[in-house]
Amino acid sequence: MKPVLVVFSGGQDSTTCLLQAIAERGAPNVHTLTFAYGQRHALEVQLAETLATELGVASHKTVSLDWYRGITSNALMDTNTPIAQAEGAATPNTFVEGRNALFLLTAAIYAKSKGILDLIIGVSEADFSGYPDCREVFIRSMNETLNLAMDCTFTIHAPLQHMTKAEEWALADRLGKLDFIRTRTLTCYEGIPGDGCGVCPACKLRAAGLAAYLAARSKA
Ligand code: ZN
Repeated sequence: MKPVLVVFSGGQDSTTCLLQAIAERGAPNVHTLTFAYGQRHALEVQLAETLATELGVASHKTVSLDWYRGITSNALMDTNTPIAQAEGAATPNTFVEGRNALFLLTAAIYAKSKGILDLIIGVSEADFSGYPDCREVFIRSMNETLNLAMDCTFTIHAPLQHMTKAEEWALADRLGKLDFIRTRTLTCYEGIPGDGCGVCPACKLRAAGLAAYLAARSKA
């Protein structure tokens, strides 16, 4: 089984990707990479390390991109900025300019150094927040760019690309990990793990997806 590097934040999306990768390839073939980029909650970085270690991945690494917040501004990194989407704005103010391009480039450099060519990232364009770097067209383009940049054949897997949050919960359930995802991961913009604050946009999206999935499951 080919080794894989998962871009891992400890949130619902990337944890679902990680659990799926472990189910398919076995933990000894799965490596994780977490970015400390000045997000609001340093807890996220610690939580990712805890989960990765607990799940028995082959290796876990945290890379610091602490310069990032010095060159851009958004509500995820700036604790004084309330999270909001301005009327008519293309993206919510939680959008971090260039984040997935930076993450994938960094991940590919690191992966290649370990002889890994498969990368997994938990982006989804189905519950589209208006983030351009979650779109399939971007992922395909970035894959080609990485191949050209490093003259090798990377494969970027984005298994959640077209999944809604409800479908993501269904996948977690099929993996036997619904409760693990529900109670252990951190998606909330206020930095509260599990069901979170319940009112921020990330919590609302996550809760609505879970409610939709549980309603569908109870009818099945
Ligand atoms: Zn929240």
